[in-house]
Amino acid sequence: MTRRLTGALAALTLCSSIANSADTATLNAIRERAMTSDWAYERLADLTDKIGPRPSGSPQAAAAVEQVAQALRGEGFKITLQPTRVPHWVRGLESAELTEYPGQPKGITQTLRLTTLGGSVATPREGLSAPVLVVTSFAELTARAAEAKGRIVVYDTPFDQDLADNGQAGRAYGMAGAYRRAGASAAARVGAIAALVRSVGGANYRLPHTGQMAYAADAAKIPTAALSAEDAMLVHRLAKQGPVTLKLVLTPQLLADADSFNVIADLIGSEKPEEIVLVSGHLDSWDLATGAIDDGAGVAAAMGAAHIIKELKLKAKRTIRVVAWMAEENSGAGAQAYFAANKALAGKHAAVIEADTGAGKPLGLSGRVAPKSVAALQPVIDALIPIGASVFDRQEQPVGSDIGQLQNAGVPGFEPLFDTRHYFDFHHTPADTLDKVDPRNLQRMVATMAVLAYYIADAPEMLERAPLGKE
Ligand SMILES: [Zn+2]
Repeated sequence: MTRRLTGALAALTLCSSIANSADTATLNAIRERAMTSDWAYERLADLTDKIGPRPSGSPQAAAAVEQVAQALRGEGFKITLQPTRVPHWVRGLESAELTEYPGQPKGITQTLRLTTLGGSVATPREGLSAPVLVVTSFAELTARAAEAKGRIVVYDTPFDQDLADNGQAGRAYGMAGAYRRAGASAAARVGAIAALVRSVGGANYRLPHTGQMAYAADAAKIPTAALSAEDAMLVHRLAKQGPVTLKLVLTPQLLADADSFNVIADLIGSEKPEEIVLVSGHLDSWDLATGAIDDGAGVAAAMGAAHIIKELKLKAKRTIRVVAWMAEENSGAGAQAYFAANKALAGKHAAVIEADTGAGKPLGLSGRVAPKSVAALQPVIDALIPIGASVFDRQEQPVGSDIGQLQNAGVPGFEPLFDTRHYFDFHHTPADTLDKVDPRNLQRMVATMAVLAYYIADAPEMLERAPLGKE
C-alpha cells in the first residue's frame, strides 16, 4: 500500500522528465492488446501439446528450437540460432521398495514413489539393497556420520509451504533445494551408498519432483533420487520404530554432450538498432512433463511481448530481442554461450528480462537496477496497475537465471514478480502441463513484459547501469 502511494507521488513529479519516452497512451495500448490476444497461449499450446517434454539433448528440444524459430520467423523477426553444447542425460528405470521394516506382515513389501535426480549415476542394473539412515538436515547427518556407512541416506527435509504462502517461495526452494543439489555428495563423504531426498515442493498427490543435482569433486558419485514427500515421511516414521531396508533401482545414463541452440529473434530498432532490450524464457524443460509453467510460459510470454509490439506497428528506438534459452535446467549452457559471444557488448544491452518463476498472476516486477532507476520506471508500473501488477521490487542480486551474467556486467535485469504460492506444487513434476496455466495470467505476463520492454527500448536514454556483481 505504502509503496503504491509513494510510487504514484513519484510519478506525478516525474511527468516532465519522461516527456520524450513512450507516452501513457502507447503503454496502455500495449497492455490492452496483450490482454485480448491469444497468440502467446497458442504458442504455449504448440510447444507443450505438440512437442511435450524438452530435456536438453533430446529430439524434442531440437523440435522446440525449430518450432519457436519458425513461429518468430513468420512474424518477420531476424532469426539467429546460436550454437551451444548441452548435457544429454537420459532417465532409465526407477523404482524403490521397502523390503524390511518394523511391524512388517509376512510377505508384504511397500512400493515408494520416486524419480531420479538429473545428473545422477545409476545403481547396478539389478539394484541395490541397504538399511536406511533418515536425517532432517546436514547437521544431523554430520552428528550421525558413524551410522551412515553402507547405508542409503534419506533426507526428510520439508519444503516450507508457509514461506511460499507468504511470498517467500524462492527462499523455501533454496533451503530445501540444497539437499537435492548437494545431498548425494554429503552422504557419500560419510560412506553412504545412495541418497534419497524429500521432493522439493508441496506435499500434494504423492508426486516426486525431479531437478538437477551436482556431484562434488571430493566425493564418490552415488545414485540419488527424490522421494515423494509422502513417502519420505513414511520412511521416516518407520525408521523411528526400528531398522528399515530399502531396495533401489535407478538406471539413468549420461550420454555425450549434444549440439543445440538458443533461439534469438530480433525486432530491429529504428534509431539505435545496436542497442538491445532482451526478453526471454528457457526452452528446455524437465522430462517428466510438458514444461508448461517451467518454462514454456516464459518463452511464450517473451514471444508474445514482441508479437504485440510488432502487431501494433510500434517502432522502438532500440532492438527488442527475444531469446529462448537452451539447457537452463541442467547447466545454463545456453546462457553461457550467449554471454561468451556478447560479453564485450554488455554496454549495448539496455536491459535483460526473463520470466522463469511459473505462470501465476504477475504482481509487478522485480528489478536489479540502480536505486535512481526506480523512479524512471514508474510509467511502466502506472501502465500495469489496471491489471494488478503494481509492485516494483528492487533487488540487489541478479534476477532470473539465464540473465545473471549480463546483470553482473552492469546490465539492468528484470523478471515479472509472480504469485508463487502454488508454483512449487507442480514444478518439476509430471503435472507441469498446459492446464496449469490460466490463459488470463499468461496475458498479464505478456502485458507486463511488453510494456517494460517497449518502454526501455524506446526511452531517449538507457537506464543507468546497475552495480557490477561477481561473475
Ligand atoms: Zn525454469
